[in-house]
Amino acid sequence: MSYDVIIVGGGPAGLSAALALGRARKRVLLCDAGPRRNAAAVHIHNFVTRDGTPPDEFRAVGREQLVAYPKVEVRDAPVGGLTGSSGAFQVAVGEEIVEARRVLLCTGMIDELPAIDGLRELWGHAVFQCPYCHGWEVQDRPWGYLARAADLAHLVPFAILLRAWTRDVVAFTGGAFEVPEDSLERLRAAGVRIETAPLARLVADGQQLQAVELTDGARVPCEALFAHPPQRQVGLVRALGVGLDDDGFVRVDPMTRETSVAGIYASGDLTTRMQGAIFAAAAGVQAAAAINGALTMELASSGAL
Ligand SMILES: Cc1cc2nc3c(=O)[nH]c(=O)nc-3n(C[C@H](O)[C@H](O)[C@H](O)COP(=O)(O)OP(=O)(O)OC[C@H]3O[C@@H](n4cnc5c(N)ncnc54)[C@H](O)[C@@H]3O)c2cc1C
Repeated sequence: MSYDVIIVGGGPAGLSAALALGRARKRVLLCDAGPRRNAAAVHIHNFVTRDGTPPDEFRAVGREQLVAYPKVEVRDAPVGGLTGSSGAFQVAVGEEIVEARRVLLCTGMIDELPAIDGLRELWGHAVFQCPYCHGWEVQDRPWGYLARAADLAHLVPFAILLRAWTRDVVAFTGGAFEVPEDSLERLRAAGVRIETAPLARLVADGQQLQAVELTDGARVPCEALFAHPPQRQVGLVRALGVGLDDDGFVRVDPMTRETSVAGIYASGDLTTRMQGAIFAAAAGVQAAAAINGALTMELASSGAL
């Protein structure tokens, strides 16, 4: 089977790209398999017209709307690897090898959740990465920010940002690193408290976070905890050898979203720290337009249009 484009990943980025390419009459295979980033989230927020939509419903509607475009095929199958080059890729989809002229990676990122007792169960329910996505529902409650040494440059602005939703913000360092005195002063001046003792566990009643318990036994009231766990690329992206930036995100051309490997494009969380469903969807459409432009130019120059 031969396609114009294979899209790997059926989240907001992949679904949007498939829609734009389908409407441009390209033959598309969208493959999706494996965990998605917001699997634990109950609702998607901050996506105009979709605010409060469950993630599964978002994806189901996305797929439903692709049915109108007969050249778009969707498979629940993993892409295991690919060979070849721009114009003639051979792609392993499940047990099958299919051909594609271009490949668009929309594989998201994998969050490496810290090993704090109780955190995994609360991820997406009371432990969040983004206050724009989940802050409104828990405004004016006691909040925490679980800072990492790697976040030091962002600690002060992010902890102060949280004060936009609540007066009660504690930044937890877990005893893992020193916060410079000038940063401490800025936090204190903005009304953010700092807790430096190591964390023992999160205390919850079901999925309702109540407190962060420290190793000295003290319990700090906390109903929403924000954290930016380290992330990694999926195995396929690591194996392809596309260029990554210093933070591990796939480098893309800002206009076309082509990676360092000709003919392979990337959109969505795997390319940026600025992660959100609507950003991913927009980047999917951007790549689709660039790919469609390139394919159409190729057809025109070969006289096949
Ligand atoms: C807990 C949580 C809550 C969030 N809440 C919100 C929110 O309310 N609002 C918001 O805007 N954003 C939210 N986000 C962020 C949002 O989920 C992401 O920005 C968005 O999903 C990124 O879309 P994407 O298409 O890049 O990747 P994803 O949605 O992660 O989709 C990637 C897909 O690619 C698939 N895949 C990976 N490798 C392969 C392979 N080899 N073959 C086939 N398929 C593969 C994965 O299984 C996955 O389905 C949240 C994130 C988290 C972690």
